[in-house]
Amino acid sequence: MKFQSVRGFKDWVPEEFIRYEHLIDLAKAILKKYNYQEVKIPILEKTELFIRSIGEVTDIVQKETYTFQDRNQEFLTLRPEATAGICRMVIENGLFMRPKPLKFFTIGPMFRHERPQKGRLREFYQIDVELFGNLTPWYEVELIKMGLKILYSPLKDLSEDEEIKNLFTLEINSLGCEKCRPNYKNYLLSSLKDSQNLLCNTCQQRLERNPFRILDCKNPNCQTEIQKLEPIHKFWCEDCELHFKELKELLEFLDLKYVLNPYLVRGLDYYTRTIFEIKGKGLGAQDTVCAGGRYDKLLEELGGPFLPAIGFAIGIERWELCISQYLNPQTFLERLSPQVFIALLGREQFNEGLKLAEALREADLKVEVLYEEKSLKALLREADKLSSKKVLILGEEEIKEGKVLLKDMLQGTQEKISLEKLIPKLKEEFIYP
Ligand code: ATP
Ligand code: MG
Repeated sequence: MKFQSVRGFKDWVPEEFIRYEHLIDLAKAILKKYNYQEVKIPILEKTELFIRSIGEVTDIVQKETYTFQDRNQEFLTLRPEATAGICRMVIENGLFMRPKPLKFFTIGPMFRHERPQKGRLREFYQIDVELFGNLTPWYEVELIKMGLKILYSPLKDLSEDEEIKNLFTLEINSLGCEKCRPNYKNYLLSSLKDSQNLLCNTCQQRLERNPFRILDCKNPNCQTEIQKLEPIHKFWCEDCELHFKELKELLEFLDLKYVLNPYLVRGLDYYTRTIFEIKGKGLGAQDTVCAGGRYDKLLEELGGPFLPAIGFAIGIERWELCISQYLNPQTFLERLSPQVFIALLGREQFNEGLKLAEALREADLKVEVLYEEKSLKALLREADKLSSKKVLILGEEEIKEGKVLLKDMLQGTQEKISLEKLIPKLKEEFIYP
């Protein structure tokens, strides 16, 4: 019997994992500069948490979650996103009493039972960023700037390239607040009621459950109806209008290009006012790499104090899809290869080889050694397959002399070198180039 992974769940073999690690390292370095603190929250939460936060009538909760009863008949859900869990963490641990703003991020897998396709998996990874404690647009613009910085970070060397400069597009909108949003909802309900039969099946259901989601339906018939509607900004209250104006001015102040998208909505109920998406080129239908927005009422709704908040999530697989063609494969090859390969000529050399390998690793070098009785030719072939830059050849003669043969695999040169001189030389090459 042959096992296969669960549909929509994937392995990350070393060549893939190394790219993931590279992206995560870059993202973390940026997040730390903005003073975000990394946290870890459970993958499993009580189902109720997601019903209360994401919303009972959203696509995610109704169709996409992995929900089951455990052995104690408790309803549990694999997290489809991290915001709800972070809010629970803030409340449960009393973190809301700490100095504001609270700035957290977490990186890990999310689970949604969707139809797998390009850029859509059932287990996927997110970098989730959340800021609690402030209502003003300054934090929003800082957050958006940081999101763009993270997305562009693997392409820093290419930042002058016109194609790269426009790889990501920021779209913004405001969903209004509890004062003005209901007016737009009522407007949507009354104007779409007559054309209900022209909408796709999903949108007909959305009309009852979640009319805002109709606005970003890709079905052409729905699009025709959507285009006839008044945009949401006609319904904003004065405060929401001012907030959005300030946000736009701040984006301009930082020279951040943006597109106003009045049809931008989010699949979750908890958003208020500012929402945004960063879309990547060349991704097809699933082109949103980063999505976020403000959720001022969520903490209160989950039983905490009033604490306005804003955050975003980057889908790591989509981010990787978008930038991978521009990454230099050489960087990754180096990350996966040993710096030094030790070739031991005969079993009698194994002990000395073991000792030498340990000494080199103590000196921070990445070392591979084969304890196999093979000919020199065969060992060099192995070193070549691993793309090791240097090979240390250790035979009976070398050990007697207290030396090794150091071979440079790229240049094809070799020299006999004493063990005392070996480590400084390799360090000069690999650690302080
Ligand atoms: P979409 O419209 O693509 O379904 P969403 O509104 O469900 O997006 P969010 O919940 O805002 O997405 O998730 C934030 C980001 O996480 C997305 O922009 C995307 O990059 C990533 N993401 C969401 N769902 C998936 C998935 N099934 N597979 C891979 N990445 C995903
Ligand atoms: Mg979705």
